[in-house]
Amino acid sequence: MAKKKGIYFEGAEKTENGLKFKGVILEPIVENCNGCERIAEFEGEKYCTSYARPAAKWRNGACNFATHVKATIDKTGQVKLNPLKASKRAARGR
Ligand code: SF4
Repeated sequence: MAKKKGIYFEGAEKTENGLKFKGVILEPIVENCNGCERIAEFEGEKYCTSYARPAAKWRNGACNFATHVKATIDKTGQVKLNPLKASKRAARGR
């Protein structure tokens, strides 16, 4: 995968509705996205490099493209987020 260094959203333009990039309006990331490697910044605002509307990706559980968490669903149907780094660290310590 290409490294997201420097300005990812080069040529993007801020509009009333969101960030316009290559003809698509991008909405800022949501809280659950924090820590994901697909985030890139543009003028102090964070956007997802994979999805135009991050909020929609989290509406029915966890984003399936998130690089920082793995979602599981428990018996009650609740979505549980397992931070990936923490679990990797735990595995190494064993
Ligand atoms: S890939 Fe998913 S979790 Fe990551 S920034 Fe985009 S919407 Fe958020």
